[in-house]
Amino acid sequence: MTEHYDLIAIGGGSGGLSVAERAARYGARCAVVEKGRLGGTCVNLGCVPKKIMWYGANLAHSLEEAPRYGFRLQRQAFDWLALKNAREAHIQGINQWYLGYLADAPVDLIRGRARFLDARTLEVDGQRYGAEHIVIATGGRPHVPDVPGADLGITSDGFFALDACPARVAIVGSGYIACELAGMLRAYGVEVTLVLRGDALLRSFDALLSEQLMAHMRRDGIRVLTHAPVRSLEREPDGTLRAGCVDYDVRVDTLIWAIGREPLTGDLGLPDAGVRCREDGTIPTDEFQNTNVPGVYAIGDITGRFPLTPVAIAAGRRLADRLFGGRPERRLSYENIPTVVFTHPPIGTVGLTEKQALAAHGAAVKIYQTQFTALYDALTERKVKTAMKLVCVGAEQRVVGCHIIGPQADEILQGFAVAVRMGATKQDLDDTVAIHPTSAEELVTMR
Ligand code: FAD
Ligand code: NDP
Repeated sequence: MTEHYDLIAIGGGSGGLSVAERAARYGARCAVVEKGRLGGTCVNLGCVPKKIMWYGANLAHSLEEAPRYGFRLQRQAFDWLALKNAREAHIQGINQWYLGYLADAPVDLIRGRARFLDARTLEVDGQRYGAEHIVIATGGRPHVPDVPGADLGITSDGFFALDACPARVAIVGSGYIACELAGMLRAYGVEVTLVLRGDALLRSFDALLSEQLMAHMRRDGIRVLTHAPVRSLEREPDGTLRAGCVDYDVRVDTLIWAIGREPLTGDLGLPDAGVRCREDGTIPTDEFQNTNVPGVYAIGDITGRFPLTPVAIAAGRRLADRLFGGRPERRLSYENIPTVVFTHPPIGTVGLTEKQALAAHGAAVKIYQTQFTALYDALTERKVKTAMKLVCVGAEQRVVGCHIIGPQADEILQGFAVAVRMGATKQDLDDTVAIHPTSAEELVTMR
């Protein structure tokens, strides 16, 4: 017998949970199918454990700086396993909390792996489920390259499973995860080598951010190898891992692949539903999250666009508003999506980079830029530099881009993202009274 729903979401991560919960609040009969832990990547293997490790790394820096502020501390050993256990206990609490979240909506939870039988029917562990609307929100997993010995390395999933802090780590990649892990591991005292196949970090970001981040990393003692694609990985008799790169041999205890993620579409039975995917496995949608098959939608990482938690959530909620909330035009605008990279120091960015603005608007672009050391670092040894850039366009100097690297960039950006989205001009920023003494005030006092 086939159990019938108005909407089924495949995947109990950021996107799937959001679309089903919002649809159920409108009175739709909904279910979520999840093969693993509730909360998906963000909660279990992404944002949440990462941010906890980042806070720990910040604490390590603060402890180093504390004597400059007059604290006489006796540093004792750092207990990695204690931190891991506390982190995992917190995550288990979130997993449990989601059970209540689904029950309240109400949304049925179907445990197991879903597969399409046709565009209206799924199979989960031999049981059939039908729905008018099926939302694919299956996310992705870390990509491991096809080089000899690749399996000797771990990925971000393996990083979160570590029970002890390795002494020497190589991280391969130059994106969000590589940069975040490099900064935090260094703060925990690890000898870190960052291995890039090209020569830039965060290549799609404004050049100010990638160049400044490179300088910060090198100053913090991270060894950055450029033009060094990894060709092979081997375990030596003493347990050392040797990564063979063009021009370099890197010897470490642990190697982490952080070279992007691949979508989980392979075993979904998409051909049986007629759903088209791209060559890389991601699912294309129109601006309303419709796939090529009516009644089948895709949201979140699986679409290959802005793989960020709040994007998956926003796309899911707007889809539910459209399908069940009487708002036929409701959809997510993928413009001006703010994003933070939890590096050391963090990066916050929204809107056009200088390069993108010049390509689109040429001579109409005006750039404002500043660099300074925040008051906190007047007393410290690290003296972390902050850099900020505003990208403005046209006679009215509309702010189309805001880029920050420096302590608290992660918290500063959200409000400025609202201003950029609302079309703020440079004059609007200038007319806003500064908050002193902060780093954020520099954004409203730039000349
Ligand atoms: P997911 O959260 O991946 O959920 C998909 C779910 O579908 C999974 O639970 C999976 O088990 C399930 N599933 C897959 N196939 C099936 C199937 N056939 N049947 C049943 N269930 C299935 N984003 C941020 O915004 N901020 C951050 O700080 C941040 N940090 C990150 C750090 C790391 C290390 C990583 C890896 C990611 C990070 N992200 C961050 C990205 C964020 O985690 C993702 O964008 C977000 O989780 C995507 O949500 P989703 O719903 O599309 O997919
Ligand atoms: P990213 O897409 O950020 O970066 C991967 C980078 O690795 C590529 O851009 C590429 O850079 C490099 N690369 C690709 N293949 C290879 C290879 N074979 N060898 C060496 N380098 C390679 O992927 P991540 O895995 O870091 O993160 C996945 C996504 O998760 C991110 O895009 C982000 O959306 C999300 N995320 C968000 C976070 C946040 O919001 N703070 C934190 C973590 C993840 P190049 O071409 O320059 O070599």
